[in-house]
Amino acid sequence: MKQCDRRRFLMAVGAGVASVPLSSLVSSRTALAQDLPLVDPADPVAVALEYVEESPDETELCSNCILYTDQEAEEQGPCAVFPGKSVKAGGWCKSWVLRP
Ligand code: SF4
Repeated sequence: MKQCDRRRFLMAVGAGVASVPLSSLVSSRTALAQDLPLVDPADPVAVALEYVEESPDETELCSNCILYTDQEAEEQGPCAVFPGKSVKAGGWCKSWVLRP
C-alpha cells in the first residue's frame, strides 16, 4: 500500500470512529449493564459469599464496592466476582470492599 493510500485509509477509519455519536456509546454501555442477568441469590457462589439483594448495612452497598465495575449503573450493575451477571446496586456480599 502506498503511503498516500495508507494515509487516506487511516483518515477514513479515523473519521468513521469520530462520527460515532457519544450518546450511542453511552446508551450501549447502559444497555449492556441492564441486559446482564441478575445473579440468583441461590447461586452456589452467591450463597458462599452470602450475597443478598438488599444490604443489611446502608454504608456497605454493591454500588460503593470496588468490585462493582460500572459506577454509573444505578439499579443494577456488573460485579467482578460474577462475570456476565449483574448485582443489585443496593446488594451486598462478604467480598465487599469500599471503593476509595
Ligand atoms: Fe456487591 Fe461487591 Fe459483593 Fe460484588 S463483590 S456482590 S459488588 S458487595
